[in-house]
Amino acid sequence: MFYLYNLLDPTLEPLDPQVPLIFGAGILTGLVPSAARGNATSWSPETRVIMDSNAGDYFPSFLKLNDIDHLIIYGLPTEWTMLVIKKGEITFHSAKKYLGLDNIDLRHQVAEDLDGIWVRNLAMVNITRAGENLVKTSGIMAGPKSIFARGATGAKMGSLRLKAVVTDGVINYNPKSAKGEDIKPYNRHIAETLLETSVVKNALSKRGTPFLYKPSRLLGAMGTFNHQETTWTDALDAENIDPYRSGMAGCFRCPVNCRPLNDLKQEGKGDRYDAGDGPEYVTLGKFGPDIGIKDPKQVIRLNNICNDLGFDTASMGSTIAWAMELFQRDIINKNTTGGLELEWGNAELVEKLLFITSRREGFGNVLAESASAVDAGYYPKEALKYRMAVKGLMQSDPHDSRILKGFALGLAVATRGMDHLRNRVTLEINAKINDDPAYKTKLYGGKVSGEPNSYEGKDVAVRACENIFAVGDAVGMCRFTTKLFNSPNLPGYEEFAQQIENLTGLKFTEKELDGVGLNIMGLERLINHRLGISRNGDTLPERWFEEEIKVGPYKGEKIDRKEFENMLDRFYQISKLDKNGLPRLEWRKELTKVVKGFCITVKMPD
Ligand code: SF4
Repeated sequence: MFYLYNLLDPTLEPLDPQVPLIFGAGILTGLVPSAARGNATSWSPETRVIMDSNAGDYFPSFLKLNDIDHLIIYGLPTEWTMLVIKKGEITFHSAKKYLGLDNIDLRHQVAEDLDGIWVRNLAMVNITRAGENLVKTSGIMAGPKSIFARGATGAKMGSLRLKAVVTDGVINYNPKSAKGEDIKPYNRHIAETLLETSVVKNALSKRGTPFLYKPSRLLGAMGTFNHQETTWTDALDAENIDPYRSGMAGCFRCPVNCRPLNDLKQEGKGDRYDAGDGPEYVTLGKFGPDIGIKDPKQVIRLNNICNDLGFDTASMGSTIAWAMELFQRDIINKNTTGGLELEWGNAELVEKLLFITSRREGFGNVLAESASAVDAGYYPKEALKYRMAVKGLMQSDPHDSRILKGFALGLAVATRGMDHLRNRVTLEINAKINDDPAYKTKLYGGKVSGEPNSYEGKDVAVRACENIFAVGDAVGMCRFTTKLFNSPNLPGYEEFAQQIENLTGLKFTEKELDGVGLNIMGLERLINHRLGISRNGDTLPERWFEEEIKVGPYKGEKIDRKEFENMLDRFYQISKLDKNGLPRLEWRKELTKVVKGFCITVKMPD
């Protein structure tokens, strides 16, 4: 964010090659168990607010172990380019021969050309045809499945005519501490903490994130048919994915191995999409209930296709679900879809939609605009009423958050748009914590109601989550294994501070790290403000204010506008933000001084 704040020229357009794409590795990336993550940051072509997307696998770690913390890329080369990083040196190569290749073929070809082996010495970030075609649901692939997904990262990389960045080897696998000591003993402590945590031991390591589907379905909070309904079949519960799980995989130096692999074997179609990596809970939700598919085999196949075509499954699935509802309501018809009948639950049709979107062919050119199809003139204004997006970003979380007010607030205020990974108070669905008010107060540093559908104190919980998750991203820790996301017992400020000190010699208190998280959010809001977004962007899809949940224990629930605005006011108050959602003047001065080195305040006469 520091670099983006300084390098962004808001008079340009997001796809202008002078708007930089920044790959960043965290302070602990590649060095600490489960700190395998890095960010891709820019101005989003999908949302026109900040683009800040996180991924793992091996590239962020190998970048860091090549002694590179940030890679800032801008400008337009005369031909498509691939960067190769070896021993910390970057060389430029023509990527002409790789044009038109999607993920599977590209990975195969690059490994052959560089005579290397993935995860042993090679790691890569790359775009697919969708990125080359500036599709706004395209991501930057970071492995067979891992992806910098959110905000059209693929289109941004495509705008730079950059097909791939490859790391070939590392400089040093085992850096020492700042005092020249071995960092392994404390790493062992972190790894043990991870593996002893119940949610890791019993769910993430065994099945990966699909374990989340069932509780959400039972609660009646599963976004279905583009959130017209909120519960769906038990056929997609994680145990029904089990027969197709061929193993588990993971990121560099992560003992959790949370990624389920799949193999449809004889139940597949006998092509390259019979086996792959995933699905995650997000993909399960978006390509299951959200578009009306019940068969796990079909969801798995669509997941494998998305991995090859380089799609953000959250934006792609939501975009298709939105189009299907518009078709159902006659807001669009076959004239818009090029003759296609957009029928719920038709997996063959969805498969076709994915391919034509990656090529921007026919109706695929409309879907390629993601949430901005109205602005692009393809859909009428009325379509916005059914769009599940905030700040122009389609919803990532399959949960329907009309019940869970903490989730709803998080989705509204997330700086990159409607995304759960920035601040979701996942533990709101943990009955044990909800039943222990004293523990819950201690956990979030303030009183938070134990009722999931109450508005009381949810601002406090979102604030705590947003701070620690921002710090987690900054150090490179995976969200799944950061305290408060899946469990209160996972590594948090204490462990981050200890390893930052070990590695750099810099000392931080837990309170200071919490302040760093707040500063990151403040800076992101200042950037968004330059891009025209402030309180007007901190809202929710209209449907959640207007339509009640029809099933389950919370039947009748929706978001009350007045309660929501009050909750937002309280959130701003504890976040040092003014009524407009911007850092208050004194804090703004401090932030500006840090990122710019100076600050000028102009006082207007009363
Ligand atoms: S928990 Fe899963 S996604 Fe996170 S770093 Fe480990 S293997 Fe990767």
